[in-house]
Amino acid sequence: MMTHDTDTQGYEVGYDDAGEVQIIEGVARDETADLLDAGTQATALEGGCTASGGSMEAAARAAGKSEILDQYAEDYPQGPHDQPQSMCPAFGSLRVGLRMKRVATVLSGSACCVYGLTFVSHFYGARRSVGYVPFNSESLVTGKLFEDIRESVHDMADPDRYDAIVVTNLCVPTASGVPLRLLPKEINGVRIVGIDVPGFGIPTHAEAKDVLAGAMLNYAREEIKAGPVARPVGGKSDRPAVALMGEMFPADPMMIGAMLAPMGLAAGPVVPTREWRELYAALDCGVAAAIHPFYTASIREFQAAGRKVVGSAPVGHDGTAAWLAAIGDAYNVKPDQIAAAQNAFLPAIKGALAGSQINGTITLSGYEGSELLVARLLIESGADVPYVGTACPKTEWSRPDAEWLEAKGVKIVYRASLEDDLSAVDAIKPDLAIGTTPVVQHAKEAGIPSLYFTNLISARPLMGPAGAGSLAQVVNAAIAGKEKMDTMRAFFEGVGKEDTAGVWEGAPNLRPDFRAQHQKKLDKMARAAKAQEMI
Ligand code: SF4
Repeated sequence: MMTHDTDTQGYEVGYDDAGEVQIIEGVARDETADLLDAGTQATALEGGCTASGGSMEAAARAAGKSEILDQYAEDYPQGPHDQPQSMCPAFGSLRVGLRMKRVATVLSGSACCVYGLTFVSHFYGARRSVGYVPFNSESLVTGKLFEDIRESVHDMADPDRYDAIVVTNLCVPTASGVPLRLLPKEINGVRIVGIDVPGFGIPTHAEAKDVLAGAMLNYAREEIKAGPVARPVGGKSDRPAVALMGEMFPADPMMIGAMLAPMGLAAGPVVPTREWRELYAALDCGVAAAIHPFYTASIREFQAAGRKVVGSAPVGHDGTAAWLAAIGDAYNVKPDQIAAAQNAFLPAIKGALAGSQINGTITLSGYEGSELLVARLLIESGADVPYVGTACPKTEWSRPDAEWLEAKGVKIVYRASLEDDLSAVDAIKPDLAIGTTPVVQHAKEAGIPSLYFTNLISARPLMGPAGAGSLAQVVNAAIAGKEKMDTMRAFFEGVGKEDTAGVWEGAPNLRPDFRAQHQKKLDKMARAAKAQEMI
């Protein structure tokens, strides 16, 4: 308990046992630190996206983070695309925390990372502040940062305002071994959840959502094991329910619920959940559906709770038929009830698909994890989709979708790099390129109509009859814009591109000698980094 200031002059204020933890004096830490070369130690302090992922990881391992990094390597396998080529992965977990009621989020990381993450979270409509515990090189290496974090969570832990506080270590504190696991599990009834989300351990922001969702499910599972927990605010379903993993369009869970009803089942909470009590309700479901296939840590929690997990999703005709059958099987529903659910919805899906045909060749790439599902829907709508690139890894839970797509001749690239996606666009020259920002930009430069996957495709209903007709309008409108793209391209022809883009009075002042000199510097730095790796 905290005492008044005047009573504590000359005394150290103790909050909990974590204050007794020795952070900087462990023998093992000193020995391993000695093994690190000066460059690697500097990386832990100064590194980030620009530092070599290898040296950041080496620093993190030497600082005692091997266990969590090994777990991440197993959960989120890397290669061939190891480095984030999109936004900072921590945005995924930050967004999950910010969307939860009565949950506070605190970041521990370099100010530039926190600035970027805060900016993006408000750009995407976060209505709450992001907490930040700043540090400098001294507070980082002396362990004072951990104490500052501990103090901040104690200050914030007000049970009237919060159910939980999520503290996230970004790259530098992870590489420096800031031990969030030593934070108290709970303060004044407020749960404290500490996670490491480094860019060198978590490949995509999608998978970072799973890091936090998995950590919270784990916490909730331990609470359930320890005794009775609070009922969800919305009450408990009177029918057996299916928990849904993956962020989706708000109408999709309702559509799924309607399709499950003829089997006597209901749609359960969507994970990541919007409030803490929903975690209990999700774990209470007998079956969990991995609608998005990368929720590895969350799936581990469902399985540890004895729940069955079903992959794929009810998209399009074939996908819905197979998914309803798989869920029915998992719940031992009678075949005639499964057939009743299929018969109630499959004709409507067929009708919606027939009424909203797409005619054209489409390349598809994204980092949301729903790329395979969208590709299925496009193909059933009549489109030719020769290439699908996803930044997410291949998992057991997308296997039915991959098999269906491969049977249709689709080339799927998991952990696709930007280069993979761009080469597909260049080689296929599609009528429409659906992809990430740089893919869309590249396609537009080539006069190919394009759509952003995240904003325009994954933010639409995809499930059941509602999803069946939802893509055609936007896709067909984009394909029909080809003529407009050609006109624009002709209009801008000759204005230059890349570093000669723009309006010039004379010829652009190109300096190939500067460029060659800079390239030499980069090569030299790369050689030095390689040599350090070998030491
Ligand atoms: S936390 Fe994100 S922005 Fe910061 S260095 Fe790591 S990957 Fe980059």
